[in-house]
Amino acid sequence: MKIGVIGGGQLGRMLALAGTPLGMNFAFLDPAPDACAQALGEHIRADYGDQDHLRQLADEVDLVTFEFESVPAETVAFLSQFVPVYPCAESLRIARDRWFEKSMFKDLGIPTPEFANVLSQADLDAAALSIGLPAVLKTRTLGYDGKGQKVLRAPADVVDAFAELGSVPCILEGFVPFSGEVSLIAVRGRDGETRFYPLVHNTHDSGILSLSIASTDHPLQALAEDYVGRVLSKLDYVGVLAFEFFEVDGGLKANEIAPRVHNSGHWTIEGAECSQFENHLRAVAGLPLGSTAKLGESAMLNFIGEVPAVDKVVAIDDCHLHHYGKAFKVGRKVGHATLRCVDRTTLDDKIAAVQALIVKA
Ligand code: AMP
Repeated sequence: MKIGVIGGGQLGRMLALAGTPLGMNFAFLDPAPDACAQALGEHIRADYGDQDHLRQLADEVDLVTFEFESVPAETVAFLSQFVPVYPCAESLRIARDRWFEKSMFKDLGIPTPEFANVLSQADLDAAALSIGLPAVLKTRTLGYDGKGQKVLRAPADVVDAFAELGSVPCILEGFVPFSGEVSLIAVRGRDGETRFYPLVHNTHDSGILSLSIASTDHPLQALAEDYVGRVLSKLDYVGVLAFEFFEVDGGLKANEIAPRVHNSGHWTIEGAECSQFENHLRAVAGLPLGSTAKLGESAMLNFIGEVPAVDKVVAIDDCHLHHYGKAFKVGRKVGHATLRCVDRTTLDDKIAAVQALIVKA
């Protein structure tokens, strides 16, 4: 079976690493000449709106999936005429736009921060008054790793904020005084079978994920599964979906969803029976899903900007290095390490050992 992937970054690369043993081949459509997935499959170098190359991809593969959500709706519609596309166009339409996404949470009864649509500075002035400060202004589309957003703390911050984010459609969200951030990675097959990985506790550094720790018997697991299950059913979703929550007042508030494999699920490569990458491929290919059970205690640390000396990383027992083969650049995710240990104390010690190797930009 040949799988077409829109995007050829590290997520595409790790999909191919998981799918190759299942007998799958891969083609990646990505405009970047140095797309790092090309080491693992065919690289169709073209823009996401290039219909000639999209048609070439559709003709070559059995199905198409995505490694990022900011794909133009027209691209998904065009591909869908020729080849099965998972997850479906509606899932991408909702997940790429924070207004649609938050409106869906509200419709499904999933708690989320108070929010308002902001299409002008006048809308922002009104929203800041009704929601109150502090609040977070976010572009509706194309935001990632804390980009495309601004925290508004005082009335003076509101004055030019819409222009500062580029005068593009935004939402204003109430600031959540969260005690933690967690994500739930779920997978749903073509037949509707659904499985969930354990909740993951995430820590960010300058808006970029730095550390994910898979939990054991998290008290909010069942609640998170209920919320995520509502979204999966509503979208008749196929594939892996990541759902990020704020932990607040002993409950959960929905932050955002990603209709794809996710950085906070990378620990599953060594830390779970079947990884998020393999399960995504199983789901879109119509294969039975694999077990999401955790193997011991597990964590993932991102390498941002550069990968520490390989010999030092692999010298740590229970530590698995994933080097994405990308050029090193400040703020860019270039690799990660997964830890899998027998108990939490050992895990915490190993996390500290990896952190000591990370070069701060
Ligand atoms: P996002 O791109 O929406 O995931 O936001 C990036 C990070 O900004 C989150 O992981 C939070 O740490 C923080 N953040 C986003 N929205 C809010 C909010 N409404 N209240 C407090 N912190 C937020």
